[in-house]
Amino acid sequence: MGSLKAKLQNFRFKGTLMIVLIFALIATILFIELSGVRYRYAQKELTLLPKEKIVTKTVALNSIKKDTLLLYSSNDKASMNALSQFEVILADMKYGTNALDLANEEIDGIENYSIIIILFSDLSHVGEMLIDICNWVHEDGGCVYFPLTIDKNAYSSAIENRIGIEASYGYSLVDSIYVDKDFMIGGGKAYGVTDAYESARTVQLNPKTTRVYAREGDKNGVPLIWEADYGDGKFVVNNFGMCDKAYRGFFAASLSLFGEVSLYPVINGSTFYLDDFPSQIPDGNSEYITRDFGTTIRDFYINIWWPDMMNLSDKYGIKYTGLAIECYDDAIDGTTDATPDTGTFLNFGNMLLRKGGEIGYHGYNHQPLAIGRDYKGIFEYKSWKDYASMEKAFGHLVDFCDELFPDVNMSIYVPPSNLLAAEGREMLIKEFPQIKTLSGIYLPDDVLDFALLQEYDVDENGVVDQPRIISGCDLDDFMKLGAMSELNMHYVNNHFTHPDDALDIERGAELGWKELKNRFDNYLDWLYKSAPNIRNFTGTEFSAAVQRFAAVAPKIEMYEDKVVVQIENFYDDAQFLIRFNEKKSDTITGGRLTHLTGNLYLLEADRETVTISFK
Ligand SMILES: [Zn+2]
Repeated sequence: MGSLKAKLQNFRFKGTLMIVLIFALIATILFIELSGVRYRYAQKELTLLPKEKIVTKTVALNSIKKDTLLLYSSNDKASMNALSQFEVILADMKYGTNALDLANEEIDGIENYSIIIILFSDLSHVGEMLIDICNWVHEDGGCVYFPLTIDKNAYSSAIENRIGIEASYGYSLVDSIYVDKDFMIGGGKAYGVTDAYESARTVQLNPKTTRVYAREGDKNGVPLIWEADYGDGKFVVNNFGMCDKAYRGFFAASLSLFGEVSLYPVINGSTFYLDDFPSQIPDGNSEYITRDFGTTIRDFYINIWWPDMMNLSDKYGIKYTGLAIECYDDAIDGTTDATPDTGTFLNFGNMLLRKGGEIGYHGYNHQPLAIGRDYKGIFEYKSWKDYASMEKAFGHLVDFCDELFPDVNMSIYVPPSNLLAAEGREMLIKEFPQIKTLSGIYLPDDVLDFALLQEYDVDENGVVDQPRIISGCDLDDFMKLGAMSELNMHYVNNHFTHPDDALDIERGAELGWKELKNRFDNYLDWLYKSAPNIRNFTGTEFSAAVQRFAAVAPKIEMYEDKVVVQIENFYDDAQFLIRFNEKKSDTITGGRLTHLTGNLYLLEADRETVTISFK
């Protein structure tokens, strides 16, 4: 009996032990999984630079030889507009430049340059010098770029056959641009043009001397981008006639056609912001949510929208940056009576962090940080009473986030409705030094004069300007073209969306969330097929990449059998687009080359000297 009892007890003990062990095993697996997730979250791919390593774009440019000459005229509006674009494009590409105002200066010493960019439609501004410039191309291997559609007049007629034009017949409407597959990232299809007009000269080119890279409409349309061989040198001509921020990638790609090998720094990052998230979920119902799902807004956010967004994050490796906002009151005197639903904040916030995402600041409420500003009836916002009121309310948001997410570093600020006045910016930088990124918008919109319209840049304190380029789930032609252009200019995607897109008729609510989600999915599919090796970043990682992009100053040394890239201000990582115009790459040391399209590659440098041998 005794032994049976002992056996039973022993069995019970073993059974219990087994169960305990199984539970322990499950707990361990869960713990490992969770810590794995946490580890991935904590482990940033790129971190912000230490302050002493910050180099602004302007400082980086000082060490670059000025071998690009810009010709413009302060008497010509279109020329001045082009100059304002090209100053940024060339600074970002780290091309050293001199700009010459032909309204009161003469061209001299062109032999000191390797590229001349002619910022005119009307070539009479350049006058007789055009012939000298053409001779310089022919005899000395000069490179001349015409980014604007060239008007027909006596001066242009004199050089037309040299730049590849055999005949021309008036003007053509450019309502879409077909980009050669091998020329640009995202090529092989046509991109719609908004505000289209007859902006292209209807030209017939000499097939022997020219190569066409983009056309109107389709593969057989009017040539919009081409290069023309001329003696020892080359012309590159743009004929699409647009010159604004959304076309910068087309200009960068055109410029990269010069030289045996050409290269320019890029950011290489893809990031997605969720505006007003976490925030208070609106109460009640919304017309299109009731129509499609028969449920409340709250239920839609929690059980439909957020799971869908997380699925997209899994599918493409996206890391979201949510922008926290405490309430939607209109207190502008520093009163902070909000009673946020902390449970929702914690749930959404923690899920976001566990997915490798990040939380940034949006505001105590949605009133833009501005004092005494006129919203001109465009927005129903109020202006803050004074500096102290803005500071107090913003401090309340900071404390609220610290309390909910105590171990999380927050460094991103996105202004409500993309409005941030100078006084608001000053307050944030001065009083909240943890803020290292201000993220406004990239493409101009009809907004107020204190809209935060930015370039990718960094100031001497390391605070990054990181504009978001496109928004929403239903991208229009303008945004699609802008997105494609920016893949070629900075190798970036920078997108934001709101949880209430599916509620707002202006952002496509009528289509229904399922269709909106499909359209967003289509965009993501296009993005990651066009740029399969683009780095998925949180907002802060993206800013870290902007800091490196701003700092680098690359120099190319060409040899018979290799190209050597010396990168000044290299820290730990530098990214470039590199085009092998007349050479073929073989082996590389100091980095990695990944083919993008045609003769265009992504160069990821991990040392300050990169050597690429030729085949
Ligand atoms: Zn917002």
